[in-house]
Amino acid sequence: MSLHFDLHCHSSFSDGVLPPEELALRAKSHGVDVWALTDHDELNGLSDARRAAQKAGLDFITGVEISITWIGKTIHIVGLNFDENNPALVNGLATLRQGRKDRARMIDARLSDLGMHHTYEGALQYVANPELISRTHFARYLVDIGEGRDLNDIFSRFLAEGKPAYVPHQWATLEQAVSWITGAGGVAVVAHPGRYHLSDVQFDVFFNTFKELGGEAIEVVTGSHTPDQYAQYANVANQYGFMASMGSDFHSVKESRIDLGMLPDLPKKVVPVWKKWGYV
Ligand code: AMP
Ligand code: MN
Ligand code: MN
Ligand code: MN
Repeated sequence: MSLHFDLHCHSSFSDGVLPPEELALRAKSHGVDVWALTDHDELNGLSDARRAAQKAGLDFITGVEISITWIGKTIHIVGLNFDENNPALVNGLATLRQGRKDRARMIDARLSDLGMHHTYEGALQYVANPELISRTHFARYLVDIGEGRDLNDIFSRFLAEGKPAYVPHQWATLEQAVSWITGAGGVAVVAHPGRYHLSDVQFDVFFNTFKELGGEAIEVVTGSHTPDQYAQYANVANQYGFMASMGSDFHSVKESRIDLGMLPDLPKKVVPVWKKWGYV
């Protein structure tokens, strides 16, 4: 019987709703054998997650989802199986989290211009980890005060790129993210490549640059891809010589389309990222 992997999800240490302990139990009950927590720009949930995973009988892999800016666009790079105490990684992520606080003040000002006041304080009511504030926390607050039907509605009217409360932000560079991850002994993975609005030429430059910098894998099966995209990015992985990763990108029971552990297996023709760690 083959092992089941879920190598992408979020806890309340970033913009997920459940604490790491509950995620571990949920993963176990959904048949996951090997689990990674990949909070946005944050490692502080990993020790709770590891402890809970051990208790639940899950293999635990350290993870993170790093926000980067590449040719002006926001892209996510997942890091897996690294040393979570590596100083360059720890310090780099701390800088990103500070940037999030500054951006949140500006999002508050933009929303104020639109007649929605004190949303920074409102969003903070949804933040469990004061070190990490996300647009998702603003969106949860705005839904609950009746400004929209659901998160997607709030993002598509206010918070998504190009919308009136969107604040352009400079995240890490691709080079920084990959070097923080690989410098800490981990594998750098392009998160949900199907989500980015890049032309074919831009994708080609991006994948080649990522590879030259030491990136080794891309997500193929993710809660953020359609089944057609599973097949498409399996081909991309093989074409560029990347290993393939998979994960639900689970954030919450109410909000996420795909629950923890509920994805189909990777297509047979790819090389799974976990081969590198001795799993078959
Ligand atoms: P941030 O990293 O603070 O810019 O927030 C990005 C997060 O917002 C992503 O990780 C998603 O969890 C969430 N997000 C982005 N777009 C949408 C959307 N259309 N609907 C719901 N959540 C979204
Ligand atoms: Mn998120
Ligand atoms: Mn992402
Ligand atoms: Mn994610």
